[in-house]
Amino acid sequence: MRWFWWTLFTLCGVSGLAHADPPPRVHRGRNPAPLRPSASVGWPNHGSLERGRHLVASDGLRILPGRVLQWGTDELVGLIERAAARLKRRLQAPLTVGDLSARAGGQIARHRSHQSGRDADLAFFARSVPPRGAGPSRPVPPVDYVVFDRNGLSLDGTLRFDTARNWSLVQALLTDPRVRVERIFVATTLRALLLQHARASHVSSRVVTLAANTLVQPARVSPHDNHFHLRIVCSAGDRQCHTGVWLPPPPRRRRVAPPPRHARPAAVARGYAPRRRATDR
Ligand SMILES: [Zn+2]
Repeated sequence: MRWFWWTLFTLCGVSGLAHADPPPRVHRGRNPAPLRPSASVGWPNHGSLERGRHLVASDGLRILPGRVLQWGTDELVGLIERAAARLKRRLQAPLTVGDLSARAGGQIARHRSHQSGRDADLAFFARSVPPRGAGPSRPVPPVDYVVFDRNGLSLDGTLRFDTARNWSLVQALLTDPRVRVERIFVATTLRALLLQHARASHVSSRVVTLAANTLVQPARVSPHDNHFHLRIVCSAGDRQCHTGVWLPPPPRRRRVAPPPRHARPAAVARGYAPRRRATDR
């Protein structure tokens, strides 16, 4: 009888242990990096994009009508989202974005670069130019890229380059805590307006110098007087990402075989050029 009670007690105890909750585990350290983050491959003008992230419209971010290529690296999309959120908080102004890259990168219409997920086109902020006595100027959300002249006026004279808001965008991009910008392509005339505004607004000289080194008008393509073209640097994990632009190899010259040694005149063979005849002229 004693062995019966002993067996029953042991079985109940083991069973009770089996059903007890495991002790709570405390998580320490950081979350692991994403297992398969995006990868920029090659150059902006000769490359591709792997596992790109899609930029979607939100309260503070508009996509330009008709543009559907909004894929970029995790870093590029994150940078644009943070800049848009910052502008919305400070200025109540939605950022308007054009093309980034195709889902897998590669060549796309209208662009030489935008192939490796590190480029994005951003529309300028603009204000209305009201007729005399018709009230104050107001922000106008762009429905397409608008060209601005050296004075910051649109060609039809109805819009003005919103220097203060455009500078805020540049500043938000350049002072992002996580991503470094390689270039912001923009026309020299508009670059001058932006830097002039920054200096007059007593922005720190470090940021103004950074902007002066980053804002640049590109060579041999459109001067970018109708939008910003943003390009970020390669990320540390993207081992196949290349800085700068890809240059095609020079065309191979056809080598012309020299005549056989015995067929050349004696003077040429000795290193002297043959005397020109008058009939060569
Ligand atoms: Zn562009």
